[in-house]
Amino acid sequence: MSNVPENAPQHCPGTQSEDAGKASACAGCPNQNICASGAANMPDPAIDTIKQRLSNVKHKILILSGKGGVGKSTVTSLLGHGLAAKNSDVNVGILDADICGPSQPRVLGVRGEQVHNSGSGWSPVYVTDNLSLMSIGFLLGSPDDAVIWRGPKKNGMIKQFLSEVDWGELDYLLIDTPPGTSDEHLSAVQYLSAAGLAGAVLVATPQEVALLDVRKEIQFCHKVGVKVIGVVENMSLFVCPNCQTRSEIFPATTGGAAAMCAELDVPLLGSLPLDPVLARCCDDGRDFIHELPHSPAVQALRSILDKIIAACEN
Ligand code: ADP
Repeated sequence: MSNVPENAPQHCPGTQSEDAGKASACAGCPNQNICASGAANMPDPAIDTIKQRLSNVKHKILILSGKGGVGKSTVTSLLGHGLAAKNSDVNVGILDADICGPSQPRVLGVRGEQVHNSGSGWSPVYVTDNLSLMSIGFLLGSPDDAVIWRGPKKNGMIKQFLSEVDWGELDYLLIDTPPGTSDEHLSAVQYLSAAGLAGAVLVATPQEVALLDVRKEIQFCHKVGVKVIGVVENMSLFVCPNCQTRSEIFPATTGGAAAMCAELDVPLLGSLPLDPVLARCCDDGRDFIHELPHSPAVQALRSILDKIIAACEN
């Protein structure tokens, strides 16, 4: 848990426990006096800093997925481009906090850009005039660096990201999180709840093995009080560009996201088809919406965006 320090002894009761600093495991721990005094249990001052920092961001949206590889980063980038393209007066930011695999710099075509730290904080990289990105990927020497980080270091990084990026005025901030529900999610939710969180968009593929994990995400959202804006079903169908035959690549044996959403009473925002051109655009960092505005995927995306905007504004 996040209240167990990095250098804690094996049976550490956690800083929020009544036994903090008093349990037998605490004997000899370098943090024993701090825990016993209750100081470790004070509210984290970063919560207030983050609230201040994000006070110019109207709608903060978490993007979650139960598993890696279901298209969370792809969907985040599509939502970012889509929101920004809808209205040039709307400013959109993407915070790539996927410490396990920060892929937004590649998908958004700004890999290798430098981020600058000035007196007012880290400046994000501008993908277009009204779409900016801050990614852990910009700060890593090598994309593999973060894989070995332990929980407290990841939490620290998320805290730093939320408190130190100078976004300016934003209408939407999309926060691309690591897959699953881990300590990093708890930290992000803890910090963002005080700043005001519009809710979470969950990304899933239609097969039950992926949906099982999305159910856990939904439970997580309910538990921590985050509104589920809805579920995006990704790679739902493949339409052959030559013969127009429609195939289910990931069979929805249990009724797919639609059945799950109905059962759990959460909105289904829409289904994005599997489109090889989309995959290629992501690999090359090109804007798919601009390249194929009439494709079935972009049509589906438009309706998803309308629902997200409506959920934020209500
Ligand atoms: P995640 O962030 O969940 O790990 P990614 O967004 O990186 O997943 O997607 C995994 C792979 O699937 C990438 O190669 C991406 O281009 C591809 N992909 C995702 N969604 C689609 C889609 N709708 N059509 C085609 N390829 C997709």
